[in-house]
Parts: sequence; C-alpha cells; structure tokens
Amino acid sequence: MTSPIYRGRFAPSPTGPLHFGSLVTALASYLEAHSRQGHWLVRIEDLDPLRESPEATDRILNSLQGHQLHPDGTVRYQSERLEVYRHHAERLVEQGRAYYCACSRKELAANNGRHPWHCRDGDKPPTGRPVAIRFALHAEEARWQDRILGEQHQQVRAELDDPVIIRKEGFVAYQLAVVVDDIDQGITEIVRGSDLLETTAQQRQICLALGGTPPQWAHIPVVLNEQGQKLSKQNHAPALDDEQPGRNLWRALGALGQQPEEDLAAAPPQRVLEWALEHWSMAGIPHQSTMDSATH
Ligand code: GLU
Repeated sequence: MTSPIYRGRFAPSPTGPLHFGSLVTALASYLEAHSRQGHWLVRIEDLDPLRESPEATDRILNSLQGHQLHPDGTVRYQSERLEVYRHHAERLVEQGRAYYCACSRKELAANNGRHPWHCRDGDKPPTGRPVAIRFALHAEEARWQDRILGEQHQQVRAELDDPVIIRKEGFVAYQLAVVVDDIDQGITEIVRGSDLLETTAQQRQICLALGGTPPQWAHIPVVLNEQGQKLSKQNHAPALDDEQPGRNLWRALGALGQQPEEDLAAAPPQRVLEWALEHWSMAGIPHQSTMDSATH
C-alpha cells in the first residue's frame, strides 16, 4: 500500500501584508511539503470583512510570488465557501455536536469570562436574541505528538470553552472553516505558528465530528519583536520589503534554525530556495520563540 501524498498548506488571514513572522511560517510549510514530494497549497482565510481586506489579500499573494513561493494549485478563498461552512454547522447541530448560544459578553464576563454552558443543554434555539453556534467539546485529556514540539496534552473542557463556530453576527468562525477546508483539501500535515498550538485539541475534535482524519501537526515557535510580542499586524509588524526577497528568505531560514551560508544573503530567491530544499531539516527548528534580528 502506498502512503497518501503529503499535502500541506499556508493559510493566512488577510489582516495585513505579509510580515517576517508569516514568511517564516509560509517558508517552513513550503519546504516541508516540497522536501516530501508533496503539494503545497495556499488558502486565504478571509472570513472577517471587518478586520480583513482584499488589498491585504493581493499584497500577500504578490509577496509570496515575489519570494518564488508558488502554490501547487489554485488559491482557495474561504469567503467563497460560506454556505458550505454553514451547512456543516447545521449538520453538527442536528447531530447534537453543536448548539445555539445566546450568551452575551456581559454574561460571559459575569462568569469569569468562561462560557457558563447552561445553553448547551437547551434543545431549542433561544428566540428574540442573536445566537451563535458553539461546538460541544467532550471532556478528554487530549494527547498528541507535535512533529516539532513533541508530546502535547491539554485538558479539554477544563482548559477550554466550547468554541464558537458561527458568530452571532452570522460570520463563520475560523475554528470551523479551517477544519472543513483541511478535510476537504486532503491536508495531511499542518505546519503553522505555535500561537495556534492551543487550538489543536479542539480542531481535532471538530475534525473527527465532521468525519475527517486528523492531520499531523508541526508548530513553529513564533517570531517575536523586541518587546517579546508575536510579530503581527496588531503589534505593528513591518511589511516585508518585497525588493529583497532573497535576503528575507535567508533571514527566515535563520529563524528556522537552518544555517544558510553568508553569501546566500545576497542571492536571488530561487537560489536561496534551492539551497533550502537541499538542506532542509525540521529537526533544526528551535523549540523556543526567536527574536526577529531585523527589529533590534
Ligand atoms: N488563518 C490563520 C492565521 O492566519 C492560520 C490558520 C492555520 O494555520 O491553522 O492565523
């Protein structure tokens, strides 16, 4: 029996242009997929029109292209698939794996910010109030093996609230769409930033409830700015300088614990990628967050 082909993906939410931290994630997922003769897909997770913009999407895609990170297949846009996610949410409700929740922010705050769960046992959607749909987690001590960080465990339900899968405003939530698409696109391994590590156990449960086979996970420690915060648009991470793609890739390899030769820093992106593919070792990725050397 042949093993299924490796399929990886890079799935940015277009809240801003590509910054150094997201390039590190894109590059790691690209190199792992290519070094295993697999496919590398790009999916734009544009579910929140209040925080995201088509301009950011264009800039991300142009930037990936400028860094010669070309996806194997057409780019998927989650904004074009809202009906599919809603359909899955309704099916989960019918199967008793998800439920309507009308809890207000105030009610959550009054319960130490945790979801009180009383709506979990109600069998009818509350009327007259906007409702969200939450996935009903089952209590378990989840254990899984992360390919970079090793053995992981999480007390599901003690540490987590039931995740919202359809928001009160009607928007589809990340927790549902990411799993629906990873199943639909046949993703076998997810390489992403360690800020998402704590979503893994719940996504595994959602995946199983949807009838999928959970992928493997590999979480890369996030890149920090000099204040020790994750590089992100919220923390004003600078956009990548697309005029220097080779240098950016060279720096990203450094953050991934690879040891590119000095003279590659001035090479065109294609050459840096060739070197990277030849020398790629996931074992070299540091387990601790690294500081972005360009920010200090
Ligand atoms: N769209 C998510 C983000 O940009 C990443 C999703 C994932 O890799 O699971 O943070």
